[in-house]
Amino acid sequence: MARHTNPVCKLCRREGMKLFLKGDRCFTVKCAVEKRNYPPGEHGQRRSKPSEYGLQLREKQKMKRIYGVLETQFRTYFEVAARQKGVTGENLVRLLERRLDNIVHRLGFAASRAQARVLVRHGHFRVNGRRVTIPSVLLKAGDVVEVQPKSRESAEIAGALEGAKKRRVPTWLELDAGNFKATVRTLPSKEEMAIPVQEQLVVALYSK
Ligand code: SF4
Repeated sequence: MARHTNPVCKLCRREGMKLFLKGDRCFTVKCAVEKRNYPPGEHGQRRSKPSEYGLQLREKQKMKRIYGVLETQFRTYFEVAARQKGVTGENLVRLLERRLDNIVHRLGFAASRAQARVLVRHGHFRVNGRRVTIPSVLLKAGDVVEVQPKSRESAEIAGALEGAKKRRVPTWLELDAGNFKATVRTLPSKEEMAIPVQEQLVVALYSK
């Protein structure tokens, strides 16, 4: 399976903002954006006015990088979102939010979406009572996610839950932390999906 192999902090520096790709480290002074808030590379500190296309491209890259999705899959999400009723940009973010790896991270069972993908692939989670190892599975309202009983002692999951105490579980998810279980109450509304990306620019880029 294709995946990013470059240091992820460079992705944040390229976008000029924290994308929170590394879990707890992102909240410390070790964060690369805190130390060097300019794009990586020889010409990183050169300033130039971005074109309209450049702005749209950067918003698309940000969204892809936040959710850890590669270009082909991201394009497929866009096409699905465009066919759905409603606002395409919102539909797109809602599809990304429904991914199992995102939900595992949002619930605090993983410190980052990247860690969530690994934990899901290693079979640490069940959805509606069945073991699921595909991070891109889309959940729907009423679905129940739980940590496999044998994985509840996992140091990785315990560490993530400890770190997640600083974060708020979104209201569209109902967490029963004591039982390592959560229910998708409803699909997220626009307000609940707030990410630092102007999704209308992503739509404009793909609509050319
Ligand atoms: Fe981004 Fe986190 Fe690295 Fe900071 S520590 S640059 S937020 S991935």
